[in-house]
Amino acid sequence: MYREGLLVVISGPSGAGKGTLLNLLRDLGGDSIRFSVSATTRKPRKGEVDGVNYFFKTKEEFKLMIENDELFEWVEYCDNFYGTPKKYVEDSVKEGYDCFLEIEVEGAAKVMKAYPECVSVFILPPSFEELRRRIEKRGTEDVEVVNKRLDRAREEIAYASNYDYIIVNDDLKDAVENLRCIIRAEKLKSGRNREFLHQFQQA
Ligand code: 5GP
Repeated sequence: MYREGLLVVISGPSGAGKGTLLNLLRDLGGDSIRFSVSATTRKPRKGEVDGVNYFFKTKEEFKLMIENDELFEWVEYCDNFYGTPKKYVEDSVKEGYDCFLEIEVEGAAKVMKAYPECVSVFILPPSFEELRRRIEKRGTEDVEVVNKRLDRAREEIAYASNYDYIIVNDDLKDAVENLRCIIRAEKLKSGRNREFLHQFQQA
């Protein structure tokens, strides 16, 4: 049956709970999944570790990665560059790991075009009211900042219909279970198992 790993693209607005969802998946997922670590020119936040959360790069270093064709996709987002290192993703998939990319909508569209066999999943919050609550809970009380993030979320959610699947992250456990079901079902698609079917028929 299907031997190559899946390339799974995950997007969703800030506050949808992508990080928590993927962390739980990581805990449950065993040895068969990997998470791509992006390169970025933004400064590390408190607690972030180079090589774990991101590969933190200078603009010059990042530009060199682009020139050397080391990135699978890259975008400029909020005055910083973000990109997915190519080799890790390609090697992981070839070796049979399911490789998860948590990226924003523009980069995701590039991946979907370049690698149509990828599986794309958009994570939604249960509602805008809940999203507002989650953003406020994250610490900022500045109404303007909260509204700006909600506006951005609206813009990003407009892209949700381009994705193969949507998951509403209301109950975290249900959301993870839905994601795992998607992965399992994708691997059973006849289109991904043509070689197996062919061998089966020849035997
Ligand atoms: P943050 O700065 O909050 O960590 O990330 C900002 C946005 O950039 C998030 O939506 C995140 O998913 C996205 N992002 C992180 N790494 C990449 C990447 O390699 N490529 C793209 N296109 N987006 C990324």
